[in-house]
Amino acid sequence: MAVLVLVVAGLLLSGCRGVRTEVRKTEFMMDTAVTITAYGPRAEQAVAAAFAEMRRVAALMNADDPDSEVSLINRNAGLEPVRVSSETFELLELCQHYSELAAGAFDVTVRPLVELWGIGKKDKYVPSPEEIERALQLVDYRKVILDQNTKTVFLPVPGMGVDLGGAAKGYAADRAREILKEHGVRSALIDAGGNIWTVGIRPDGRKWRIGIRHPRPEVAGGVLAVLPSQDLTLVTSGDYERYFLKYGTRYHHIFDPHTGLPARELVSATIIGNNSAEADILSTAVFVLGADRGLALTNQLPHITTVVVTPKLQVLTAGSHETELELVYKEGEDQ
Ligand code: AMP
Ligand code: MG
Repeated sequence: MAVLVLVVAGLLLSGCRGVRTEVRKTEFMMDTAVTITAYGPRAEQAVAAAFAEMRRVAALMNADDPDSEVSLINRNAGLEPVRVSSETFELLELCQHYSELAAGAFDVTVRPLVELWGIGKKDKYVPSPEEIERALQLVDYRKVILDQNTKTVFLPVPGMGVDLGGAAKGYAADRAREILKEHGVRSALIDAGGNIWTVGIRPDGRKWRIGIRHPRPEVAGGVLAVLPSQDLTLVTSGDYERYFLKYGTRYHHIFDPHTGLPARELVSATIIGNNSAEADILSTAVFVLGADRGLALTNQLPHITTVVVTPKLQVLTAGSHETELELVYKEGEDQ
């Protein structure tokens, strides 16, 4: 009898250990540190498979990698349509959909601007208005020809280029989440440098608590708000992620496709939703659109919650999870 009890206790213990086994790994990819934390008996294999999947997506979609599908599309600009995988094709379609909704504030053809400014890549350099104008001539998502039947992408003007930098991290995070779930993981956190997915709840039975970074920690401390989160994705676009300063002006990596300059309306935009590719696209779009037009856009999307910070550090929120947001920094505190 005593033995039996021990065996049962042993089974229970090992069962608990399985559920609570934490695996946390970090890899550098897509220009950012990606950390996956997962729980459960198969967490080790699940995390390894999720990283492999993210690396696969990055290899398809990284415009800086000459072997990617995106580079193949760009090399063939003005030459011929390029057949791509259905995932690249569908992500481009999703981008086009939101470009329409956002009146071109999100534009997947920003590649010539990204290359011209080279933010995060070369020395501090502000292009001339002529150079910016020349690049802008090549930026127009409406010119991209996506052929459903042949799954081909054609950029009709030589020099045009697509850049999935504003969407691919979210898509990769969506894929990582799928892989974790396929491996039976019911509790996990994916953090792809500002792209977060919370899978289920924490192993202690509580919701995840996700902090949204304040874009000006030197003024306001590190955390803007905390969201108790279960099966939600949070994506932030901010002017602090990649930038350089020249004569007191901050030049960062998110461009207004209408001016060719880094967008100035907001300092950060966070989107909370249930699809990370969509949230990633929307965070970039809202960042460019600014508070009024950005919130007007996301208010049409009932499943989306939005948090924006203006250059004067006003915080505006809207959407279904608005009431659950715990604001740590109250607007105007230090202004
Ligand atoms: P995110 O950090 O998600 O806002 O994405 C920024 C990245 O998206 C940049 O590094 C560029 O590769 C690309 N990008 C910049 N401006 C835009 C824009 N207006 N529309 C679409 N992609 C953009
Ligand atoms: Mg984005």
